[in-house]
Order: sequence, then C-alpha cells, then structure tokens
Amino acid sequence: MDAHTAGPETLWDVAIVGAGPAGAAAALAALKARPDASVLLLDAAEFPRDKVCGDGVAPQALDVLGALGVDLDELVAGTAPITSLDLVSPSGVRASGAFARPARVIPRKLLDERLVRAALAAGAQLARCRVRSIVRRGDHVLVADSYRARVVIGADGAESVVRRTSGAAPAPAGTVAVAVRGYVAADPWPAGRQLLRMATADWPAYAWAFPVGDGTANVGYGQLLTGTPPSRAHLTQRLGELLPDAAGAQVRGHRLPLSTGRPDYGHDRVLLVGDAASLINPLTGEGIYYAVVSGSLAGVAALAADPVAQYRRSMRTALDKHLRQSDLVNKATRRSGFVDVATAAAGSDRRLFASLVEFGLADGRLGARDLVALLRACAASPAGVVRC
Ligand SMILES: Cc1cc2nc3c(=O)[nH]c(=O)nc-3n(C[C@H](O)[C@H](O)[C@H](O)COP(=O)(O)OP(=O)(O)OC[C@H]3O[C@@H](n4cnc5c(N)ncnc54)[C@H](O)[C@@H]3O)c2cc1C
Repeated sequence: MDAHTAGPETLWDVAIVGAGPAGAAAALAALKARPDASVLLLDAAEFPRDKVCGDGVAPQALDVLGALGVDLDELVAGTAPITSLDLVSPSGVRASGAFARPARVIPRKLLDERLVRAALAAGAQLARCRVRSIVRRGDHVLVADSYRARVVIGADGAESVVRRTSGAAPAPAGTVAVAVRGYVAADPWPAGRQLLRMATADWPAYAWAFPVGDGTANVGYGQLLTGTPPSRAHLTQRLGELLPDAAGAQVRGHRLPLSTGRPDYGHDRVLLVGDAASLINPLTGEGIYYAVVSGSLAGVAALAADPVAQYRRSMRTALDKHLRQSDLVNKATRRSGFVDVATAAAGSDRRLFASLVEFGLADGRLGARDLVALLRACAASPAGVVRC
C-alpha cells in the first residue's frame, strides 16, 4: 500500500504515530513478523531531523536493532566506539571503568533517518502528518481524521498526543526531567570515553560530554522538574559551571518522561511505546534502548488477536523486574550522599561497576552481591553522610 495513493477507505494493519527509534523499531518488527502487513508511519517532521538527545546508544539497543534486520555497520557509520565511562559524583568522588561492550554516540539526525530508511526498505510507508486526533471506531481507529488502522502505536515521544487522547494517565508530578543539549569541539574530552558529572545543586542533576568520534562532542545538562520549570538560561549556566569547556554551547531543550516502574502500555487498539509510555531510565536519562525494545514488542503484538494484552504480557516479561527495581533505586538516590557512596564503591569494585552500567543503560538488575556491596559501602561511610 502507498501512503500517498491510499484513499480514506484504506484500512492499515498498523498506523504508527512518530518515526523516532520506537516507531521505526515497531514498523521493522511488524514487517519482520508479517512481511505482507500494511504498516504506516506518520511523523510531523521531515527526515533527516534533529532530536534533542545525548545520542548515547547502548550496545543492547544495537542488539535489538540488529535482530530486526538493521545493518549495524551502516547505522554506526561516521561514529567511533565508546569504550569507557568516567563518573563524578555530586561531592566529587570519581569512578572510571571500561564498558563490557562498546557503546556509540550517534547524532539523532543520523540515527533516526537511518532507522526510518531501514523501515521503508522493509516495506513500511511514511507520511508527513502532525497527528492531533485519535478516534476509536468499533473495529478500527481513525487517526488525524484521515487514516484508518486496525491498531495504532503511539510512538510520538515526550509530548505524546496519542497518550493524551487515548485515556492514559498523565505522568505523575516529580517524574519528568528537563535537559539542554549542544554540540562543541571534542578536544577537551578523551576520545572513546563518556563523562557524567553529577551536581549537588538542583539534585538530581548532571552534565555530560559524549564524544561522537567526528571531532565533535554532544554536551548537555539535565535536572528533575520540581515546581516551576527552570529557564533555559539557568540550565545553560549550570552546564557551564559543571563543564567549563562546554560554556557558550548553543543548546536546545527537551523534556524526559521518566519511568515510574509501572508504565501504562495503552488500551483498546492503541499501544504506547518509548517516551510516549514514559520509559526513560530515571537514574540515567537513557531512553533509546527502552524505545526500541518496547517498539519491537508492540510491532509484533499489533498483529495479534488481542494486541494490548499481548503487548502488556511481552513487556512484563522483558522489562517489569528491571523497571520496578530501577524505580526503587531511583528513590534511594534522592539522597545525593547515597550516590557518592555508590560511586566510590563502584570505583573500587569492577563487578559492581559493570552491574550498575547494565542497570543504567539497559535491562540489568542488581543481584544480591551488588546490593550487599552497596549496603557495606553505606555502613562504612562516615556517620551522617548517608543512612541506608
Ligand atoms: C537532552 C536529552 C538527552 C538524552 N540523552 C539520551 C542518551 O544519551 N541516550 C539515550 O538512550 N536516551 C537519551 N535521551 C532519551 C531519548 O532521547 C528518548 O528516550 C528517545 O528519543 C525516545 O524515542 P521515541 O521514539 O520514543 O521518541 P522520539 O525520539 O521523541 O520520537 C518521536 C517522534 O514523533 C514525532 N511526533 C511527535 N509528535 C507528533 C505528532 N503529534 N504527530 C506526528 N508525529 C509526531 C516526532 O517528530 C519524532 O520524530 C535523552 C533525552 C533528552 C531530552
């Protein structure tokens, strides 16, 4: 089916609102499951387009995309492997370590266009359209007054219209962050290393510098939204304070809907994925892995007899335990002293460092040994610094 010639009577198997990583993964997964399915991607933007992001892509996200048939050499072209991470805690404790497998920093202008191209090559259709309405009508859903689909996947990001119009609850107070991002010359930061520098003021908050591998670095600063939203000038000033080499960067801002551990995956023919389902890791702000996992599971579920039930089941199996544990640990980190202690412990314990990286970037869980190591570190910390 062709998005431009299909008439209003056309009934699409799946319409996906938003062609970011979650939407593209959903299209690829649906077409992998059923190559003759009719899959329509709708996006307000014309590709290539920028998306405000740190551009950090975990190896586990690349695994998911590779399994969907994406050519990973093409996907990462022009970027260099990121092999290690430097962490600086709120009070200045440092921990550095190698990643078990390299990550990438892929500017979203490149990443998202490459994924959309892969989805089109697999047979999806793309139409440029800002969706403002979703109306359920018996056996189908009417999207933007123009497109009829058996199932709709809301992959329209942090300000999701599909989420708002589909009956899902809004994100609870205290579960949204805001961040600014820019690109500067990479010279001040060693190639192949990601830097996270946490802040004491406005905690939880941190700045990052992620070298792309093309002579530039993605730099930014984000903090949790509590009360009156901070101005862009405030966020830019905090970036310059934490990373003086990034001062003066031209930045743009965006919101991050953080996971609460109990996501709403949608209702009645409408599935929510990625940021539209608030799936960003609350500890690190990473969302691309969760976007491609949820997108790929929703793409398959969309073709099932009961899409919402199947999607909920597969997400529970894939991510439930991780999401609940990251919510609990996130609550513990509201005390910045706990993060100082955890950073120090990770700096001297390679295994704990690796567990925390997996926990912050993908679907890792902290096991008994990790929790014992953290509790011991808390118990040994100077009185009054942290009480666990
Ligand atoms: C500053 C910042 C830094 C971040 N850093 C990282 C990082 O380093 N690593 C990481 O993994 N994650 C990071 N994240 C999170 C990551 O950006 C998101 O989790 C990820 O983009 C989610 O993908 P998505 O496909 O759900 O949504 P998006 O990537 O936001 O894609 C949504 C798409 O929907 C389209 N759209 C929106 N509304 C409509 C509409 N009404 N009609 C039609 N189309 C619409 C948009 O044009 C867009 O193409 C960061 C986020 C921010 C804000």
